[in-house]
Amino acid sequence: MQFYFPDSQDQVDPSFDFVTERRSIHRVRQRDDRYAHEIIEPPPYDGLLISKPIVDGLPGGTAAKYTEAQRNRLYRGGARRFFRLDQRGEGLRIMGDCGAFTYVREHKPVYTVEEVLDFYEECGLDLGITMDHLIFGYDAELDTKSASDVPEDWRFRQDLTIDLAAEFLRLHRVRKCRFEPMAVAHGWSPLSYAGAVTRLQSIGYRRIALGGMVPLKTPDILDSLKEVSVALDPDVELHLLGITRTAHVQDFAGFGVTSFDSTSPFRQAFMDERDNYYTLDGSFVALRIPQVDGNTRLRRLVTAGLADQRSARRLERDCLGRLRSYDEGGAGVEAVLDAILEYAELLGTSKDLSTEYRRTLEAKPWQQCPCTVCRKIGVEVIVFRGADRNRRRGFHNLAVFSERLRRELERADTRV
Ligand SMILES: [Zn+2]
Repeated sequence: MQFYFPDSQDQVDPSFDFVTERRSIHRVRQRDDRYAHEIIEPPPYDGLLISKPIVDGLPGGTAAKYTEAQRNRLYRGGARRFFRLDQRGEGLRIMGDCGAFTYVREHKPVYTVEEVLDFYEECGLDLGITMDHLIFGYDAELDTKSASDVPEDWRFRQDLTIDLAAEFLRLHRVRKCRFEPMAVAHGWSPLSYAGAVTRLQSIGYRRIALGGMVPLKTPDILDSLKEVSVALDPDVELHLLGITRTAHVQDFAGFGVTSFDSTSPFRQAFMDERDNYYTLDGSFVALRIPQVDGNTRLRRLVTAGLADQRSARRLERDCLGRLRSYDEGGAGVEAVLDAILEYAELLGTSKDLSTEYRRTLEAKPWQQCPCTVCRKIGVEVIVFRGADRNRRRGFHNLAVFSERLRRELERADTRV
């Protein structure tokens, strides 16, 4: 089972000093900053997924996440060089897609098939996903009703995705493209997913991604996969777009899934309310100690005369100081907790996380983790503060996630 990590140019600065919070004055972002596969040993994923809208932006829509310079570097040198896979992570593969979420509201996808092929070819990708159009809806009951009960827009999007895939494969052959093509099947029920897969197989696809499953409940995903597996040719492999339900990875594998992608392990580090720091069997909340500098809420309070900048700074320093002392066996849990809660109160934080904070502090999970991030920066990984800590915690989560995945798959092996 291969895990692809969708790239969003999330890198960390190795020169960042956690105590002074300063960087090397010689730092050059593109040369010195590091990707997860350069920090975590071994790389925590089997490949990267790059999305055309993130690189190029959308015509008349969303801006690209890549700068002009990054885009040029990617196209000029190819993706393998851009992500420095020649130095670390040699075995990683790079997959491309069209980021269907970004144009889901449009009547039709926004790129031409030629533009998509150009993108995959010029970047030298290993795999390229056809342009698809998301269906927003799932209703298994429709399998027992007549075809006319299916919303017209859903049929339109499924047919369009298949037509685009046919055109994509035709041009892929004409141009003798080197990357491996992957189609996307969309549906609204188990039978409609299976129907899309059947049609894509007959067009000639040997790799098919299942799209639009992110909002589905796990039993619905499993029902659809079961139906798809009945229709699946033995040499065709399935990819799950945006799905990370590790507890079911052996079921997925049993239905023909050989790969999937997801940003969740990374993003939960700083987007989730509570599950910020992964462990093999669960997760912990990260300790929120935001920076005084750049905190807009605090600035407003100071301007209004409701808070004092100096006491905020003192509290911020206290939080970090006591936490480090606790880590080394000095300060007690209460002292750290008091400082963090007092600081949170000053910042006007409404959510009470004291129970969760206590749990994190008492367990000290960062002291047991063998990943390269935790070994290198220790207690700093558990602090929810700024991109350099938050992204490293995301990298740690990726390392734990890949270990969880390995463990689940081994469990499947021993069961057989
Ligand atoms: Zn770790």
